[in-house]
Amino acid sequence: MARAAGVWTPAAALPGAEGSALWPLLPGDSARNEPRQGCGMFGHGIEFLEREKKMTTRTLERIIASVATSDGAGVKLRRSLGSAQALRLDPFLMLDEFYSDNPDDYLAGFPSHPHRGFETVTYMLDGHMRHEDSLGNRGDLKPGDVQWMSAARGIIHSEMPQQTKGRMRGFQLWVNLPAKDKMKPAAYRDIAAAEIPTLALDGGGEARVVCGTLRQNTGAATGPAQARSGVTLYADVRLPGGALFAAAVEPGDNAFLYLYEGQAFVGEEAKELPGRAAGLLSLGDRLQVRAGEGGARFLLLAGSPIGEPIVQYGPFVMNTRVEIDQALDDYRSGRLTAG
Ligand code: MN
Repeated sequence: MARAAGVWTPAAALPGAEGSALWPLLPGDSARNEPRQGCGMFGHGIEFLEREKKMTTRTLERIIASVATSDGAGVKLRRSLGSAQALRLDPFLMLDEFYSDNPDDYLAGFPSHPHRGFETVTYMLDGHMRHEDSLGNRGDLKPGDVQWMSAARGIIHSEMPQQTKGRMRGFQLWVNLPAKDKMKPAAYRDIAAAEIPTLALDGGGEARVVCGTLRQNTGAATGPAQARSGVTLYADVRLPGGALFAAAVEPGDNAFLYLYEGQAFVGEEAKELPGRAAGLLSLGDRLQVRAGEGGARFLLLAGSPIGEPIVQYGPFVMNTRVEIDQALDDYRSGRLTAG
């Protein structure tokens, strides 16, 4: 399967690709398989400055349109990444956008359910999300807050959206963990909006940096999240009409954008990314996005690929079918979260 540009929908995914986490190999893909640590755990230093001299700007390589679906007890959402198992970008498994002015679309929420083998990152823009888990944690995510939850060996939790003036809007990202970390103890952290730094962008606009470091000529910001997965950057970017955003990124990281408002044109070719779609970027050490006349708001994600096989069964994401059977057994017998 060529990794050609174009709009991809689940229907375009190849049969037989289920369970295969990796994109077909491309020239330069070996760089994708060099594991590095996640955000907050490494610095760029001199090496980074040296690379700025000969930068390659990433191009918009593939578009994954979001599809309307529902999950939990009937929460209506739009799923781009992960809408089919072949539509992933290692280490990213899934991205859901929740957006509704109608409480009937979401108040039933996500009652008690398990996870094993990966991390979930929930980011609220409007409304609240109440949660409770098997570790005894409880919280209420408010607008601008983030929950970084590492399910690892196992967690059972509920996630219940609450309305503010009727509206609920937010995102949930699933990020894979490498085999060596899948059976570690679960952990989570609620990050309050006030802990997340906002960086003024060189070309206008601003970015909230949840995880990793975003650098501009006039400054840099580092997000508070400590990913156990290979996420190296999670930023929420807001550009005014016509603004040009450019930033250096780790050349071997997989990266994508998710445009949730406005219009965005990606790379030196200024290729348009449709709204409510994930735009997967080629490798390269620089990225560039120009906002349309009405501005643009998008999530920018980068991560170090894991390069391991994936077997997913709903909320369990492991490396083998045997491990999935074990997860199901553990869940049924009440041992999912023990350990
Ligand atoms: Mn969950």
